[in-house]
Amino acid sequence: MIRVVFLGPPGAGKGTQAQRIAEKYNVPHISTGDILRAAVKEGTELGKLAKSYMDKGELVPDDVIIGIIRERLSQSDVKERGFILDGFPRTLAQAEALDKMLGELSMPLDRVIYLNVGDEEIVKRLLSRGRVDDTEEIIRNRLKVYREQTAPLIDYYSEKCLLAEVYGVGDIDEITKKIEDLLGLEG
Ligand code: AMP
Repeated sequence: MIRVVFLGPPGAGKGTQAQRIAEKYNVPHISTGDILRAAVKEGTELGKLAKSYMDKGELVPDDVIIGIIRERLSQSDVKERGFILDGFPRTLAQAEALDKMLGELSMPLDRVIYLNVGDEEIVKRLLSRGRVDDTEEIIRNRLKVYREQTAPLIDYYSEKCLLAEVYGVGDIDEITKKIEDLLGLEG
């Protein structure tokens, strides 16, 4: 059972690391970016709404995202195995809503893993990733949005004594190992 949030700038490797831990320890990996991209692909109402924000590197409105997470966290696999949240929360309002939901479900967070990667490395990584929302202009906006709206969560979780920082540059296996150590998992 693990209940963890992965925090960090776009391109820090949250998705890669979350996926690895999720598979190895059989914990549900909940990526709001993946959920939104699937909705865009299917052409649902949610997808149409989300696309208009994602195309600009803006955040999808809090109430929409919080609704998605509320529904996902209520499912039985999460109750049994925990969760790895990747890309949520991204604003203070989302973090507060998450606290409230987890309180109601009696599922406290174990840890917030903050993957720290410098700006230059991030731009380099995102430009080489080739995703549709990875053009230079959108990347610059996503970094600005990250700094303004998401970075304050570092202090938020630090004050709650939940934050554990991992330097996200270097060998992928070694970074996974560091995360496992911080989560008290056996490698
Ligand atoms: P990601 O794959 O996590 O980088 O997310 C891709 C895009 O989806 C972001 O740039 C946002 O437009 C949107 N998105 C993903 N997660 C959230 C969230 N928690 N709150 C608002 N928008 C989000």
